[in-house]
Amino acid sequence: MYDSPDSTDDDPSESTECTVERPAIPAQALASALGATLGPNGLDKMLIDREGTVVVTNTGATVLESLDVDDPVARIVRDAVLAHAHRTGDGTTTTALVLGELLSEAERLADQGLHPNVIIDGYAVALAAARDALRELATPVETSERETLRRIASTAITGKWDATATARFATLTVDALRSVDFDTSRLTMHAYPGATLADSEQIGGILVDTELSSTEIEARQTDGYRTRTDPTLAFVDGEIGLPETDGSETVTVQDAGELQSVQEYEQQLRDDLRRAVVDLDVDVLVCRRSIDDGIRTGLEKAGVLPVERTRRDEFAAIARAAGATSVLSATELTHEALGTAEAVRHRPVGDRNAVVFSGLPFEDHVSLVLRGGTQHVADETERIVEDCIAAVQHAAHDGGVVPGGGAGMASIARTVADRADRGGRRTALAVDAFADAVTVVPRTLARNAGLDPIDAMAALRNRHHEGDSAVGVDRSGTLCDMREAGVVEPVTVPMRCLETAFETASLLLGIDERLAATSGTDPDAVSHGGHDHANHAHGSDNSGTSGYPWALSH
Ligand code: ADP
Ligand code: MG
Repeated sequence: MYDSPDSTDDDPSESTECTVERPAIPAQALASALGATLGPNGLDKMLIDREGTVVVTNTGATVLESLDVDDPVARIVRDAVLAHAHRTGDGTTTTALVLGELLSEAERLADQGLHPNVIIDGYAVALAAARDALRELATPVETSERETLRRIASTAITGKWDATATARFATLTVDALRSVDFDTSRLTMHAYPGATLADSEQIGGILVDTELSSTEIEARQTDGYRTRTDPTLAFVDGEIGLPETDGSETVTVQDAGELQSVQEYEQQLRDDLRRAVVDLDVDVLVCRRSIDDGIRTGLEKAGVLPVERTRRDEFAAIARAAGATSVLSATELTHEALGTAEAVRHRPVGDRNAVVFSGLPFEDHVSLVLRGGTQHVADETERIVEDCIAAVQHAAHDGGVVPGGGAGMASIARTVADRADRGGRRTALAVDAFADAVTVVPRTLARNAGLDPIDAMAALRNRHHEGDSAVGVDRSGTLCDMREAGVVEPVTVPMRCLETAFETASLLLGIDERLAATSGTDPDAVSHGGHDHANHAHGSDNSGTSGYPWALSH
């Protein structure tokens, strides 16, 4: 199907290294590579990078991010889909599939002599109809509907884990969101390796990882340090130490007496800084930057728990919630600037150290501690939970939910096809093509569930014709009412999938030809990579109509 890549006559005898062939990935391969990961029966992809690192994932965005894409059209497709993923958090594979179909359909229409502008017009009419269809299909969701929110969360993460883990994370996410009234600025997440997914938990308060700082809680495991009840908190948004020298200065001392006075002066400064904290009866000192070793030891001896190098967002959140005002230097601390909490306790997470600030009087906070066997698994878990949170947020605040499992897209296809007669005859062809393109979602779900996609689509179309607008393909491959099956997704997700697919298709269809630009990277890569190359392959007499610059198969 594809032309074999030009052999770049590297003398094979020169290198005895074993390398993996990495051909450029054209846009079509990109869409079909993702198709098999769609939905609850989607399979994982194994990604192997140049260093041989292996990553197994089911997330469309992770696959796309790691792909080596050389083809310029494929690159535009990938970047648009990734931008959608970052903005919306879900629907990555769906966007890539629909976009791929819109471009294939456009190629077919252009072969029939339709001008790209007519195709774009038709797609725009279809998108407007699709938007209406989605709004009509949507049902609102209240933040009090815990069960519905759990279903939304489950649908968003289906296929990533087994059913038990999916249910567990859906509950964890929804409960965490509910306990902060859906205000994610009061929700912190940390991913730690060294335990199983099932060990992930929600804890009340803000968890601060102290591993990055030299706050060595291990060294002070007396009971007094393990939990501080009703502590007074101070916040210093800077460094606590002696005035910095820029490193180029050398202090030259003439004799032992002078050295002693320098040391005494420094000791005096340290004492002043320590006393500024201790005299205010501070129990926990939270510092944005580092604390000088001598001062830290002095503070610890006086019973103060120093927490240094705190992440900026956590520092601000704790100070706000504790009712404290942060100051730039320890000497500026006053009683008015201090805050309180119910408890600050040391809490090891796996082999790492953390401190939890709980019972903060001005804001309720919740932390999610996500676990996985390796850092990669823990990080991937964090990402999936972030997407899950985004899905619940969209549904609760942004227009409600529509049935998933391809039901929404099948329903859209019907409405769009009904509108085809509103434009001109030629535009109607493009409107119909859009309707066909969106059915790629139920079709792919059916195929991934082991059904014959043509039979399944015929049956699905009949059910929708009879007015069952919520019928889709469930996990077992049965056509059933998706609302009843509990498969619902935020209306925002399919809406944005279609918008991104439309915008990107329009952008690519508007391209007349590829020209090699003089600035930037190797211009040959552009001019030889696609259009010309395809014309060579089809024979030189085939120059006029074939080889659209945006076409997928080039
Ligand atoms: P995307 O990257 O597009 O989100 P996914 O692999 O997450 O791709 O699959 C999403 C699709 O799977 C959506 O169309 C969604 O409705 C569907 N889906 C999710 N859970 C189920 C389920 N339990 N049964 C049927 N379809 C489901
Ligand atoms: Mg998804």
